Amino acid sequence: MTIALEEAKNGKDKGNAAIGSVIVCDNQVIGRGHNVVTTDGDITMHAEVAALRNASLTSGVSDFTGCILYTTMEPCMMCAGAIVVSGVTTLVMGGNYNSSIGSYGDYEVNKAFLLVDRNNITVIRGVMVKECEDIVAS
Ligand SMILES: [Zn+2]
Repeated sequence: MTIALEEAKNGKDKGNAAIGSVIVCDNQVIGRGHNVVTTDGDITMHAEVAALRNASLTSGVSDFTGCILYTTMEPCMMCAGAIVVSGVTTLVMGGNYNSSIGSYGDYEVNKAFLLVDRNNITVIRGVMVKECEDIVAS
């Protein structure tokens, strides 16, 4: 999560939302990224998607079964879909979605996974929550 926070800071320093993500497979970081929506002018370039793209480019694979995605904020619905498609097996989250930072009602990423029968994705919450939420708020 420390590396994901570094990514969040990198994104923030460039003028993007302060959210970062890292992909770990076999105890190796194979992808990392941060939100570049503002600087790239691409609404789909959330941190999770950026990290998955980076992992695909660096590893040459597109199936991340058995891998872990660390992200500083709870993934949105789009990123939840990307996680499902990628095969990522474990999601480790920092900050939690709340309605003051978005407009998705009582959304939780676990609910998105259940909608597509992916209750086998392990979701770990509560890792460095304050650090991850503070960098978004500052
Ligand atoms: Zn997203």
